[in-house]
Amino acid sequence: MALIVHKYGGTSMGSTERIANVAKRVAKWARAGHQMVVVPSAMSGETNRLLGLAKELAPARQDASYLRELDMLASTGEQVSVGLLAIALQAEGVPAVSYAGWQVPIKTSNAYTKARIDSIDDRKVRADLAAGKVVIITGFQGVDAGGNVTTLGRGGSDTSAVAVAAALKADECLIYTDVDGVYTTDPRVVPEARRLQTVSFEEMLEMASLGSKVLQIRSVEFAGKYKVPMRVLSSFTPWDIDINEEAKSGTLITFEEDEQMEQAVVSGIAFNRDEAKISVLGVPDTPGIAFQILGAVADANIEVDVIIQNLSKDGKTDFSFTVHRNDYARAMDLLKEKVLPALGAAEVVGDTRICKVSIVGIGMRSHVGVASKMFRVLAEEGINIQMISTSEIKTSVVIDEKYMELAVRALHRAFGLDQASA
Ligand code: ADP
Ligand code: ASP
Ligand code: MG
Repeated sequence: MALIVHKYGGTSMGSTERIANVAKRVAKWARAGHQMVVVPSAMSGETNRLLGLAKELAPARQDASYLRELDMLASTGEQVSVGLLAIALQAEGVPAVSYAGWQVPIKTSNAYTKARIDSIDDRKVRADLAAGKVVIITGFQGVDAGGNVTTLGRGGSDTSAVAVAAALKADECLIYTDVDGVYTTDPRVVPEARRLQTVSFEEMLEMASLGSKVLQIRSVEFAGKYKVPMRVLSSFTPWDIDINEEAKSGTLITFEEDEQMEQAVVSGIAFNRDEAKISVLGVPDTPGIAFQILGAVADANIEVDVIIQNLSKDGKTDFSFTVHRNDYARAMDLLKEKVLPALGAAEVVGDTRICKVSIVGIGMRSHVGVASKMFRVLAEEGINIQMISTSEIKTSVVIDEKYMELAVRALHRAFGLDQASA
């Protein structure tokens, strides 16, 4: 008997019929003798619908009093899911009980809309499991020290599930979703993408942070920190498939490099359309300019990603960086109103039609020429590179958004990731 956490995403919970299927699958695992904790997301489209309602009433703001209410609102989607799933399990004849985050409680910081989990009290859950119940806990939400409901950021149910698994020292955390594992790139963009049997924790961390939305990055961080065995698999297989076969399906996230079965130099390609580029032109090239520009941006709580500073000419330089598109307007206003006059820079220009494409692989540590091959492939496609950023196991480029799919496909092929070349 093992203690297993299942997470079901929005599509998997998308209708009462699908919820009934989830219940049948969970019941199968419970009947096989496992202690089961289930963390579902809101039904597909529900979080967007709820946030849309807020927009109908008032334009979005950044202050805590507004963000608090957004969390109060958005967290209800998951509450519907846990109640329905508990009802469906009981209808299967399986004792089940559901909890909202605050009831467990899952304690978080008070950073509304992007709270971090601080601690999870496992006592209630353990008592229910000992009493033979399936425990169903809302994904995505928690409670801060002041008793306010918080949410963990979009896609946050993955993180809830892994954090619950870590707190309970679960034997495995199974992330059920609408694809049957982690692919070499998003299979919806590149049909030739291949499912990986295993992916190293470090690669998964890079892929998640570079835009592969299959797992929220914080869930991968949690899995790494607490060594939670974690697998991504499909919720669309028939619920009654053999449990041992199911337990081995999908993609396993591994922590040891030698567990890695596939030794490709590049394991995956990630892309991200959520960023915008800002350039401050004609900046005096003196010590402290990066701090003056980026310090002001950081003080406004805006995260910066890729940064480049050009060679100076006649004592002036250009300074470019990317921010999340949601922060773009705010960053531009701030720079125009405050930073530009103080710096004596000539101009600030922005571009929202960019995307970031990245190649990821632990094999890049031991192979040279991988980045230059990436640049060659893009050049052959006539794609201009606007910015470059590298780390030990990834190379990212910022390019015009309209070439995104072309770039991803060309790189996927060139690095031998297509089905045919596998
Ligand atoms: P859920 O609602 O189950 O959390 P998500 O939509 O958050 O599902 O994540 C699954 C989606 O992630 C897939 O439908 C797929 O389009 C996308 N995705 C992006 N990159 C990858 C990748 N490398 N491998 C698999 N899926 C990916
Ligand atoms: N329902 C939340 C969202 O749509 C959390 C999740 O699905 O993981 O972002
Ligand atoms: Mg998700």
